[in-house]
Amino acid sequence: MKKYVVYGDLNCPYSYALHEKLKSLSLLEQVEYRLVEHAPDLGLYGNRPEILTELASDVFAVRSLAAEVPLALPPERPDSRFAILCIIAAQMISPAKSQQLRELFYTALWVEGKDISHPSVTFGCIEQAGLPLDLEVDEDSEEQLEQWQAQWDKSQVGSRIPAIIAPDQRKLLGLPSVDDIKAFFAGEEQSLQHESTKLQRSSSLRSIAILCTGDISSMWAPIESIRGEYNLLLPASMEELKQLFHSEDHAPDLVLLHADEHWNDLLHGYQSFIERMKISYTPIAIIGAENNDVLELSAYSAGAADYITEGRSSGILKARIGMMLELKKSRDFLERSARIDGLTGINNRREFEKLLEQEWRRSARTGQNIALIMLDVDFFKPFNDRYGHLAGDSALRKISEVMQNTMSRPYDAVCRYGGEEFVILMPETNAAGAKKVALAIRQAIMALKIPHDKSSVAKFITVSQGIACFTPNDTNSPMLLIQAADEALYAGKHSSRNAVMMDGEY
Ligand code: GH3
Ligand code: MG
Ligand code: MG
Repeated sequence: MKKYVVYGDLNCPYSYALHEKLKSLSLLEQVEYRLVEHAPDLGLYGNRPEILTELASDVFAVRSLAAEVPLALPPERPDSRFAILCIIAAQMISPAKSQQLRELFYTALWVEGKDISHPSVTFGCIEQAGLPLDLEVDEDSEEQLEQWQAQWDKSQVGSRIPAIIAPDQRKLLGLPSVDDIKAFFAGEEQSLQHESTKLQRSSSLRSIAILCTGDISSMWAPIESIRGEYNLLLPASMEELKQLFHSEDHAPDLVLLHADEHWNDLLHGYQSFIERMKISYTPIAIIGAENNDVLELSAYSAGAADYITEGRSSGILKARIGMMLELKKSRDFLERSARIDGLTGINNRREFEKLLEQEWRRSARTGQNIALIMLDVDFFKPFNDRYGHLAGDSALRKISEVMQNTMSRPYDAVCRYGGEEFVILMPETNAAGAKKVALAIRQAIMALKIPHDKSSVAKFITVSQGIACFTPNDTNSPMLLIQAADEALYAGKHSSRNAVMMDGEY
């Protein structure tokens, strides 16, 4: 008996890959397939550049999620309505043949790259499935599709991903891993998030965003040649590129802009964005149609890092991309070493001072508190004398790690102030909150149990912390905040050590 229901489209690569995964797990017999149109108005604009870009982007995403599923990039995203109606009509004749027809359509589109909305392809599949060529696609079939479509729309799953619904109404969305599918069919609760449909980018690969405002098909050969080496992102517009750029985990390392003749307007129209990309050393290379010195020079003056004529060999393209990325890498490295402390990998003092300035101004605007913890390792000189400097360095690294792991808010910043002294900057945090954090850090550092037999407060390494919390106004300043935290720390050192002090109180 079929208990599980799958909603998916024929022209959606996620749905296709899900189908193949279910097939490989021999689960197709347990599911009822309800094909729906993810984008019913596709027929009107299926070959528009943004649809093609989106298609390429989906195909690359699915390839990275399900490498085992054979998947080619078809020349366009065909309308799927008629093919779905044929599958529904075939259901009335033979459920087995209908299933076979569904598989044939999937293969025709996603393996052979055929247009399944074209009658010759549609009828070829029908014939191959052993179904009559005069298969009757009638009102009943239309009505069935409409019913499923209405159920689908009501389920509010999201229009472009497949879903499996269990008899007990659990949902599995997107393109889950084989393990998730197995667990779902074994009755386990799944979260509603469809994390797996997000492109899981390999963190070891650099990211290249390719923005095509012209004919994307001319970029397919180069895309194909570089897609194994890089994470490819395919924004559909300059606006989408901007969004990618501002999202923390999707910011590209390089932008390739392919625009028939509009790239010049684009570069000039988005000057401030281009400037921001330059500040983060993200190069933009133009893929231009013509070998033309005037155009090329205008690209450089508008901020492009390179101009590559369309049609150059993929080897040339790869080499130029490689050079731009190398340059970015060394600039990123320099930029990072100016901010990050070499021993511990956390912010250095210079970065702390910059962040403090910045957060101080922000708190002054919003009238919020700003809290600072100053932390110093107890009896660290005797520790070094007893265990050696290498052990001392290693202890500092562990302590930094513990501090970082204790912090949860994105604007909290753990910094090395110098030697064995650290500061933690906590915007929008009141005194009670800061104290909680300090106590948690104290606990976590004691839990490290780094032996210290020269300490007179414990058998293990401990730290002392001083807390200050200010609301910026005319009478105080960042300097005074540091001073107050330092005084509290000093008081902690003089009381007992392994202490958390604020305003002279333990
Ligand atoms: P207190 O409890 O009063 O803080 O005693 P203390 O010994 O920690 O105080 P003091 O500030 O006099 O000593 C700091 C020592 O920390 C000096 C140095 O031996 C050690 N130190 C500072 N920076 C580093 C570093 O980068 N690596 C190592 N291994 N030791 C460091
Ligand atoms: Mg010290
Ligand atoms: Mg110390």
